[in-house]
Parts: sequence; structure tokens; C-alpha cells
Amino acid sequence: MKRYSFVTLAAAAFTGHRRWTKVWRTPQPKPAYDVVIVGGGGHGLATAYYLARKHGIRNVAVLEKGWLGGGNTGRNTQVIRSNYFWPESAAFYEHSLRLYEGLSPELNFNVMLSQHGILTLAHSDHELESLRRWTNAILINAIDSEVLTVAQIRRLVPLLNVDARFPVRGGFIQRRGGISRHDAVAWGFARAANALGVDIVQQCEVTGFLTEGDRVKGVETTRGRIMSDRVVLSVAGHTSVLAGKLGLRLPISSMALQAMVSEPIKPCLDTVVLSPVIHMYVSQSDRGELVIGGGADLYTSYAQRGGLTVLQNNISALLELFPAFTRLRLMRQWAGIVDITPDTTPIMGKTAIQGLYINAGWGTGGYKAIPAGGDTMAWTVANDQPHPLIRRFGLDRFASGSLIDEGAAAGVAH
Ligand SMILES: Cc1cc2nc3c(=O)[nH]c(=O)nc-3n(C[C@H](O)[C@H](O)[C@H](O)COP(=O)(O)OP(=O)(O)OC[C@H]3O[C@@H](n4cnc5c(N)ncnc54)[C@H](O)[C@@H]3O)c2cc1C
Repeated sequence: MKRYSFVTLAAAAFTGHRRWTKVWRTPQPKPAYDVVIVGGGGHGLATAYYLARKHGIRNVAVLEKGWLGGGNTGRNTQVIRSNYFWPESAAFYEHSLRLYEGLSPELNFNVMLSQHGILTLAHSDHELESLRRWTNAILINAIDSEVLTVAQIRRLVPLLNVDARFPVRGGFIQRRGGISRHDAVAWGFARAANALGVDIVQQCEVTGFLTEGDRVKGVETTRGRIMSDRVVLSVAGHTSVLAGKLGLRLPISSMALQAMVSEPIKPCLDTVVLSPVIHMYVSQSDRGELVIGGGADLYTSYAQRGGLTVLQNNISALLELFPAFTRLRLMRQWAGIVDITPDTTPIMGKTAIQGLYINAGWGTGGYKAIPAGGDTMAWTVANDQPHPLIRRFGLDRFASGSLIDEGAAAGVAH
């Protein structure tokens, strides 16, 4: 793998950027692999990378029906944090944040991590009490979190209208939270996995599975049959479709989640601001655009409550809190199909089918989990047992009732 450094970047600039070489190969799929990963999003690519780097399993294929990162990984609003409520989630997401903190040197690829904090607002005294409880839980899990007064919030976000229709009463911040560049995360993992020998096969849709008894033996694809005793499903909002081909019914609802960006403006917002009550969040990207999101399109009837209505709600929530943004023009709007579980906790680990592993149920918040998702899934596949950090995230929790309800900590989609 070509090492990137200041010198190589400067040399490329001085030669008109004409000498860049391709960062991953375009291989033909082989007839068989040790591990096949379905889905070339962040989780699939990270799993392949850690399988090769940490476990020496390099005969691996990542099969992607479209292009790398073209699913939710390339559509999200890039928010990263680890301030979850329950100890299981806190441990997992903190592991992810720590991996993010070292990811650029690890992958030799700048993922543009910007830890400028994530501020969650409270709009009533009752809500502020809940945020205090949440902060205490986070601190007990040895993760940074701080309650802020209205005066502190005013200083941190001068453009915020704290006297909005739902006045701001306070909030809490995780200063190590923030954003990173989502394409760079996908490309960085792809480049590093490719360098370790992983085959990344784009334009290759998995259409079915080969099984023998209760074992998976391979996959059917639009580019032919590929054999493998170990198959990882990492397809986010498409998980139910693929699992259904194996007769697996999963507790996942798939729905659209929208986001949008404004035209670029000068730096004016130095943290991610999130309001669970008014239901929107906003941050400013390195390019100056405001990146705006809200809740998922929860209602099935597009005409009634989904689509444009959600978009309109998100914009009015933004303008309620930031009247100064009224004159901004929106540049782009899009959606991804997210996979939501009843307790807003992912589903990771083994399935009833031997050799079939699942990494799904990330809903609106799996971007921040990509490094830990890949790391723990790789360990799980290599050892054929769930990594200790994801033991509680298995499908069996829906039979035992031992759910990890992170609904409140998911707050607004982020
Ligand atoms: C608008 C929006 C905003 C979001 N904001 C945030 C945020 O700020 N922070 C956060 O943490 N999370 C956020 N998320 C959620 C986050 O993006 C996802 O949870 C995460 O990207 C999931 O990664 P993944 O690799 O599992 O899935 P994906 O990136 O969706 O990758 C799955 C891949 O599987 C491929 N695939 C599907 N079916 C097949 C098949 N049959 N054969 C081969 N390939 C197949 C797809 O093409 C896709 O590329 C957001 C999501 C959306 C939509």
C-alpha cells in the first residue's frame, strides 16, 4: 500500500494530481473464500480489515451490490459519540470512539475526525433532570460528560435561540464527540483491507444462499456462485430481505431516514447541537455546509406523515432554534433505509444457521459504531463465539426479554 505523507501529498499537488494510483484492486470474484462479507458499507469493510489485520484471515471477499459506502455509510450525518446510557452500550461505543481517535494513523488515511463536542439540549426542568441522570450514568461508565447551564450554552453556541417556543433550560455535552468524514472512513478501511489481500467486489449483488442442513455453504450472486463456510450479513436496511431468503424473521423495521445540507457558509457553529424534544440536530461540516437531520419517517403512509412532511418538520425545528439560518438555501436532501430494532440496540453475532453471522439493527446510529462493529465482528467470526463486548447484543435477547433499551439515548436520529 502506498504510504501517504506530507511529502507524497505535496509531490502529488506539484505534479497536477496526475500520478495517483488506484487505492484498491477490482478483482474478479474467486469460486471460494474463507469468509464472505455481504455489504460494502463501513461495517462490512471494517470487519474485513480487522479479520485480515488482527486474525490473519485474508482470504476474504466483501461483496457489494452497488459501490463502496453507497449505502447508509455514505449518507449519514457523521455524528460520533459514546454517551450511551446502559453499561453494555457505553462500553461498546466508547471502544468505537477510542478506535476512531486512532483511526487516521491506523489506516494511514485522514478520516477528518473533528472532536468539537455534541451538545444535547433540555427544554424543561423535567428533561434537564433526565439529562442529569443520563450524565451520571455516563460518568459512572468512565466516559466524559458535562451538564451545562443556559449561560454556558449561550457562550458555546451564540446563534442558538435559547428563548425559543420551548425555551432551553440547560443541556449536556460530550466534548470528545463530534464528526468525521464518512466517505473517508469507508475508503480508508477499503484501502487498508485491500492492501492486506481482501477482495472487494463491487457490482455484485447477493441474491440467495447455499446451505447444507443447518450450515451455510456459500452465496448466489449476480456474478455467480461463491462458496464459503462463513458468511457475514452486513447490509443494514436490507437485512430483513436477505435473512428472509433463509427463513429467518428478524425484529427489524426498515424505514427511511432523511438528512439535508445547506449552502456552505463561514464557520458559525462549533459543536453538534441536538434537541430530542424539538427533534432535530445540526452541525457544520469542514466545507461550511450545515448538516441537518431529524427523526426517521416513522409512518408508513408517505402522504400522511413521511417524506416531505418530515423534511418540513426538521427545517421548522432548525429555524425555531436558529432563526439566523432562515435565509440559507438548501443544497441537497437525501435518505437512507435504516434498520431499527425494538430496543434501538444492534443485533450482532451468531445466528441459528451455522456459519452465518449478523451485524445489523444499527438504525439511525451505526456510523459511530463502525470501527468497534468491525473489530468485534471480526473477533466473533474468527473465534465462532460472540466477542465479550457484544455478548448482550445477540438475537437471543428477544427470546429472553433481556433487552437493552437505548431508545432515549438514541433521542434524535444520529
Ligand atoms: C440520513 C442518515 C443519517 C445518519 N446519521 C448518522 C449519524 O450522524 N451518526 C451515526 O452514528 N449513524 C448515522 N446514521 C446511521 C448509519 O449511517 C448506519 O447505521 C451505518 O452506516 C450502517 O453501516 P453499514 O455498513 O451496516 O450499512 P451500509 O453503509 O448501508 O452498507 C450496507 C451495504 O450493503 C449493500 N447491500 C445491500 N444488499 C446487498 C446485497 N443483496 N448484496 C450485496 N450488497 C448488498 C448496500 O448496497 C450497502 O452498501 C445515519 C443514517 C442515515 C440514513
